[in-house]
Amino acid sequence: MPAILLDGKKLAQDIRTELAEEVAQFTGSGSPVPTLAAVLVGSDPASEVYVRNKRRDCEKVGIRSELFDLPESTSQAELLERIDELNQNTEVHGILVQLPLPAQIDPECVLQAISPLKDVDAFHPENVGLLVQARPRYLPCTPHAVQQLLVRNELPISGQHVVIVGRSDIVGKPLSVMLAQRGLDATVTLCHSRTQDLPAVTRLADILVVAIGRPNFVTADMVKPGATVIDVGINRTDAGLVGDVDFSGTREVAGHITPVPGGVGPLTRVMLLVNTLSAARRLES
Ligand code: NDP
Repeated sequence: MPAILLDGKKLAQDIRTELAEEVAQFTGSGSPVPTLAAVLVGSDPASEVYVRNKRRDCEKVGIRSELFDLPESTSQAELLERIDELNQNTEVHGILVQLPLPAQIDPECVLQAISPLKDVDAFHPENVGLLVQARPRYLPCTPHAVQQLLVRNELPISGQHVVIVGRSDIVGKPLSVMLAQRGLDATVTLCHSRTQDLPAVTRLADILVVAIGRPNFVTADMVKPGATVIDVGINRTDAGLVGDVDFSGTREVAGHITPVPGGVGPLTRVMLLVNTLSAARRLES
């Protein structure tokens, strides 16, 4: 029997509906409209689309977004100055700097310059540290999306063996921390390009999360029958958008599986809105 689909699009819509109500209650009680500042440097077409979509998402739930569209030639000092202004601006609750940045700008330096209270991507070292200590201020968007896909579909996590393939700072690493924490209680194995005999490790997974950026890399023979497979990958190919998991073969083996598109992606976008409302609550209290 083919795997049950984990529909991220539908779940994202459900969470947006909940959020719209929460935003209305927040502003209805006299608080200002939660506001996200989106900073885009240069004219990378993919980045332009991402920022446009994020701003559209904001509108749907009643969050205001302001776009700061800076030229490709922007220097690091100019960008840092702009971020400092946004940090000081009491009408702005969340700041998002779209990556990648042009070569003359050090992304680490820029992300560290964002006030940790307005860091709705949760990339600032202070927020990463709080997450590791199990007292998160904001949850990073993609790991939070994966967690919500599991929790809201009532898939067991406690005591399960979660194998995560990919150890990036934005997906695999923080996700491994989140799922292993008290309360979720998974047993986590974090794999990467140096992992030996990867298929033997992935076959141990009750929950397999793949975030490596390689089209159709995980095949059915790498998956334990009945496992839950979460495909974070987004790869643009001649055949269109595909994940890191060979969907058609793997769905015959897995118990649950996310599609690409329509799985983790739409939920990741929603988690930015969750953090923006949370930032507004924090800054206005
Ligand atoms: P990175 O390129 O930062 O990291 C990739 C990771 O995959 C690294 O840890 C790397 O290992 C590991 N890796 C690469 N090749 C292999 C291999 N053959 N075997 C085992 N591990 C391997 O990627 P990101 O985390 O930024 O993104 C991963 C994918 O997720 C991309 O497709 C991206 O587009 C997508 N993505 C999707 C999001 C969503 O909302 N759905 C959000 C963010 C990303 P090593 O560390 O050893 O180099």
